[in-house]
Amino acid sequence: MVVENFGRNLRFEPSNILSPKTSEQIIDYLNEQRPRQVRVIASGHAWSPLIETNSTLIDLEYMSEVNIYEESGESLVRVGAGCQIKRLIGILNKAGLTLPSLGLITEQTIAGAISTGTHGSGKHSLSHYVKEVSLISYHDQSDTASLCRVTEGSDLEAARCSLGCLGIIVEVVLPCVPQYMVSEKWSPCTTLSAALDREKDAPLQQFFLIPHRWTYFCQERTVSKRTKRSLFASIYQIYWFLFFDVGTHVGILFAARWMKSRKMVRFLYRRLIPLFVPRLGAVTDRSYRIMTMEHEMFRHLELELFVTREHLHETVEWITKVLKFADGEEVHFSDAERIILHKIDLEQSLTKIKNSYTHHYPICFRRILADETMISMSSGDHEEWYSISLITYVEPRERFFRIVTFLAKYLVESQEARIHWGKWFPLDSEQTEKCYSRLTEFHDVCQRYDRQGVFRNTFVNKVVFFKSDKQFK
Ligand SMILES: Cc1cc2nc3c(=O)[nH]c(=O)nc-3n(C[C@H](O)[C@H](O)[C@H](O)COP(=O)(O)OP(=O)(O)OC[C@H]3O[C@@H](n4cnc5c(N)ncnc54)[C@H](O)[C@@H]3O)c2cc1C
Repeated sequence: MVVENFGRNLRFEPSNILSPKTSEQIIDYLNEQRPRQVRVIASGHAWSPLIETNSTLIDLEYMSEVNIYEESGESLVRVGAGCQIKRLIGILNKAGLTLPSLGLITEQTIAGAISTGTHGSGKHSLSHYVKEVSLISYHDQSDTASLCRVTEGSDLEAARCSLGCLGIIVEVVLPCVPQYMVSEKWSPCTTLSAALDREKDAPLQQFFLIPHRWTYFCQERTVSKRTKRSLFASIYQIYWFLFFDVGTHVGILFAARWMKSRKMVRFLYRRLIPLFVPRLGAVTDRSYRIMTMEHEMFRHLELELFVTREHLHETVEWITKVLKFADGEEVHFSDAERIILHKIDLEQSLTKIKNSYTHHYPICFRRILADETMISMSSGDHEEWYSISLITYVEPRERFFRIVTFLAKYLVESQEARIHWGKWFPLDSEQTEKCYSRLTEFHDVCQRYDRQGVFRNTFVNKVVFFKSDKQFK
């Protein structure tokens, strides 16, 4: 059976697809069949080839039990790996609780989300909060698969975001927080500094750089003391759904994908879309209603960059400059920029990029606090990271790939940028190595849990372990 991911940029045919109902079934399968390679598919929302395999693919949709409990005065939830986030937050909400961090959508499973460091805005990524991971693997360098609980130390830091390389996650324990209300208000800003200033009063905010206007709209968000939804909350939700989730996307699809009209795309952003951005006062609603959206309604593809605050201004200047250049504007590249381009062999690409692509989606910025993990994108000693999303709705996607590869490689070299593991991933092993200082430590942990590399596929062997499949065996 052919398997496709959400973005339809991956298509592959595993030799075997299993949907186990218990951990014992997985353990028996691994020990009796001794498969060459095993990967897990969850909701298939990653764009990078993480789920790809021509060997065994495991789907844990039947392992999705949710058990809320208290320990030392703290509310915790033990959740089956295959449970979708939307089901989990529905169950938690009935108990007056929610997750400590939420991404933009809730389609992912809990194991899928933590495995790539899925994040929202103003908090750590979900991976950071994980207290325990129950894994089926070949731990202690054993040749026999068994279940183990990872609860502390560097093993937990690796298991919190492991790209599926440590083994098959069957359960995760997460802390829960009391359900809370969030107030949201939209405001325009002309500069990046002004948008960042808003964070002082709105620490959960995300903001958008509007292409072709090159100004910002902030979705200012803050935790509210109110206990009830605003009167207008339902109307706001319907407006948001009709205007943004549906209307804006249909407009973008019409202009960029169907008509392929660069003029229409520019008109959309310079004149039309800003007219519809809500200019009401703040609206208050439950956290998950404000913090999530239906971004999965229309198929698209995304690359997401992460930089620290000190690199944010230069990163935005570079992205804006390259997108303008790609759209046919005259821009000047400095000698210093050309030296970097030369160093990473991208000088020739400039000519190919010129006048080749019109960006057609708002560029979203989110702030993520540093994670206690080994290799999630916001891991490390810095206080906070900013994620920058570049999205395309146009197919074929080659022109987009060329631009974002160019942007990403330059920014990894010059601004120590990282790329979301679960989004489109254009880096090679050399560049990935530069991004994560604890990658060797991660290799060591993986080696202890999976000596033979059964839980690794070609993609992770290449970009995470710097080895071809052949070298690995
Ligand atoms: C529309 C859309 C919106 C998104 N919004 C956000 C966002 O706001 N923030 C953000 O950070 N990301 C976002 N993402 C990216 C997404 O959260 C990640 O790619 C996430 O990993 C996908 O989860 P999934 O359940 O679909 O897992 P899959 O894509 O199926 O798998 C992802 C990885 O997890 C591994 N995995 C899954 N389950 C297990 C298991 N039980 N044991 C071991 N490994 C496992 C897989 O092998 C694979 O390596 C978005 C993606 C889409 C398509």
